Amino acid sequence: LRKTVIAGNWKMNKNRAEAKALIADMVPLVKNASCDVVICVPFTNLETALEATKGTNIKVGAQNCHWAESGAFTAEISAGMLKELGVGYVIIGHSERRQYFGETDVTVNKRVRAALNAGLKVILCVGELLEQREQGITNETVSLQTKIALMGVTEEELKNIIIAYEPVWAIGTGKTATADQANEVNHAIRMVVASLYGKKAGDGITIQYGGSMNAANAAELLGKEDVDGGLIGGASLKAADFAVIVNAAK
Ligand code: 13P
Repeated sequence: LRKTVIAGNWKMNKNRAEAKALIADMVPLVKNASCDVVICVPFTNLETALEATKGTNIKVGAQNCHWAESGAFTAEISAGMLKELGVGYVIIGHSERRQYFGETDVTVNKRVRAALNAGLKVILCVGELLEQREQGITNETVSLQTKIALMGVTEEELKNIIIAYEPVWAIGTGKTATADQANEVNHAIRMVVASLYGKKAGDGITIQYGGSMNAANAAELLGKEDVDGGLIGGASLKAADFAVIVNAAK
């Protein structure tokens, strides 16, 4: 029915030599995956990763892109620049971008639309802060993030969007959402998509979980009805761990 996608988010890790070595280790371990496999590497490693994954089932993504096609935006990278390299995916709206680099729902929406226009597949991240979970406003928070991020996105374009639910309190903390918590929020996000685009679109969209997903807990999380994959940080930097997660996917 819908695609399962396991994506690694390398964040700001690995130099070129390390990237090459990690991918070489990964390739044989994930080659029989029944899900889609993506690695989102630093900009400086994109060409290396594209080269190292040629002829394999591993796809390459970036971790952000700007909304303009070009211009005076020092240090930014456009979606078209990524597309030209042969990059297939881009993460947009990661909580680290929102927390440390001033990204807002509005800039996330602009970046999402630019990425789609350039023909990239988007991994759109949403997720609540610990305070928001404690206030009981998790679903409201992720619903609003999702709605704003999707403003102006057509039903056809939606097919190129994956949503990653990443509770901020679970990222890099070793504290995973329980499989039931992940499933519940993923379901709420699916209902938002269904309310905007219809039931078929809701049923069809891939919704990942991210936040301290690892080799030990992946199977349980991925076993849940509404968890269609994972966005993996730390555990994606080790070939063996990443492979266990990939191979746990339906
Ligand atoms: P960790 O898997 O390191 O918690 O990171 C999750 C994440 O932010 C993926 O985008």
